[in-house]
Amino acid sequence: MAGAGKMYIRFWGVRGSIATPGRETVRYGGDTSCIEIRCGREIFILDAGSGIRKLGAKILKEKPQHISILFSHFHWDHIQGFPFFAPVFNKEYSITLVGERKMNFTLEQLFTAQMMFPYFPLSLSELDAKISFHEITRNDSIIKNSVTIKLACLNHPGGCIGYRIEYGGKSFVYATDTEHYSCIDKSLLDLSLNADVLVYDCNYTEDEYSGKNGSPKSGWGHSTWNQGIKIAKAAKVKKFILFHHDPSHDDEFIDKLEKQAQKEFKESYAAYEGMEINL
Ligand SMILES: [Zn+2]
Ligand SMILES: [Zn+2]
Repeated sequence: MAGAGKMYIRFWGVRGSIATPGRETVRYGGDTSCIEIRCGREIFILDAGSGIRKLGAKILKEKPQHISILFSHFHWDHIQGFPFFAPVFNKEYSITLVGERKMNFTLEQLFTAQMMFPYFPLSLSELDAKISFHEITRNDSIIKNSVTIKLACLNHPGGCIGYRIEYGGKSFVYATDTEHYSCIDKSLLDLSLNADVLVYDCNYTEDEYSGKNGSPKSGWGHSTWNQGIKIAKAAKVKKFILFHHDPSHDDEFIDKLEKQAQKEFKESYAAYEGMEINL
């Protein structure tokens, strides 16, 4: 729990695409996207990648409470931990899943499909927690007690939502799974304006993106730290976090990216499992 008026953030999964355990990824971690945000007593979770499993074990040690899970989108690396999030098997918890409808599928249908036979041994309706669904559209904002959550549409195959969470005069922006345009993305710039923290999709290096040493990655829906720092500077954010590390980037490689990014923007940090930020 964070004190009243305080925001506490902890990273539980920072990897993109697929979990990558192993000796070469042990420092930054191999679990996929999941961030815990505490705004006073309120619990928000950004995405349910494989990192959410350990977060669930931590939450179970606390008094049962309501939890909101905000989904950027429904690619595997952002949802695969959901059925392994222990509070879903405890009837004392109520959990609201927040996200967009996709085509004609309601949010409930999307999660029902994830756990459908033969992909998982239990169905969504067999979970013990009280699960509810909050469908958002791109221009919505959510106000819950004294927390304000704003949204922006990101550039990713099938669509993706960026979130800005404001509480106690502080702001945290989560913008993963987005590909930059040739000019600065105006909606992401607006979302990030004067934010204390910007978490950004730094999946590729500029060389990987342009295809210098292989096939180009343009159109794959991801970005680079160089492009993220353009937004960080234009939006005057205080801290820039490199996130959604590519599965092929080992610890040493990410160390280098962090150093390069810091030369351009001093307050740049590569996200790692267990990283904490207090605002
Ligand atoms: Zn992803
Ligand atoms: Zn994705």
